Amino acid sequence: MPELPEAETIASQLRARLLGATITECRIGRADIVREGLATLPWYRGALLVSASRLGKSVVLEADRSGETRYLVFELGMTGLLFFTLLDPSYRKHTHLTLSLTGPVPALYYWNPRRFGRVYLLDGPGLARFATRRFGCDPLTVPWEDFRAVVARRRGRLKALLMQQQVIAGIGNIYANEILYRSRLHPYRVASRLQVRTVRRLYDAMRDVLSEAIADGGSSVRDFLAPDGTKGDYWKRHQVYNKAGLPCPAGCGRTIRRLTGERSSFYCPACQRE
Ligand SMILES: [Zn+2]
Repeated sequence: MPELPEAETIASQLRARLLGATITECRIGRADIVREGLATLPWYRGALLVSASRLGKSVVLEADRSGETRYLVFELGMTGLLFFTLLDPSYRKHTHLTLSLTGPVPALYYWNPRRFGRVYLLDGPGLARFATRRFGCDPLTVPWEDFRAVVARRRGRLKALLMQQQVIAGIGNIYANEILYRSRLHPYRVASRLQVRTVRRLYDAMRDVLSEAIADGGSSVRDFLAPDGTKGDYWKRHQVYNKAGLPCPAGCGRTIRRLTGERSSFYCPACQRE
């Protein structure tokens, strides 16, 4: 958490509210929050924000100064968020980077109480390297044939595959569970053994679940809030995540089970057979 739909919700609010603004000041709370490019921090002062996008679960701001382009990449980790205003003074403590801006939104705050996230200050080639090294295909834009090939090559468990960022970028525990339930696939099924039509069902479910979650502004579990402080409603439509012991929403008569492993899996033993 935040996963792809939450990162996309953040990026779309940044696009709507910050593009065209100039950075007047760039302050960091702790130097170790910037993992790469700390020496370039002064460059961003006076730069214009020209685009905001998502890369896996990370959010990317593109800045331009006299025709030169650089990027701010915000890794959100487990608890990182971006805010237009700090919700209350206690948020100041865990605000690690602040951009002061011209325009209707005077600032952007990178807040992260557990500091598992990081910020990267990168130029174009740096961003390209960053993306290739860390991120596999994007679940929303990967063509069917490519996805099919990726799944066919993997001998691991399906749920672990969906969450492996270097293979498929952006899905974490919440959406992996929801996607597998929608696909009627057990989390421990072996990827490479699936029939083509089953992989197609997974592909369609993955895109549908993520698109629906984006339309709902993401899922506000573990305190996710969008930059403007609003919540995402998709948690109300979760079918299995965190619902162990509750009846399967498909009405099959069984209850949702939890498998404990590195990350908990939630599934219906009747609808998702091993
Ligand atoms: Zn069921």
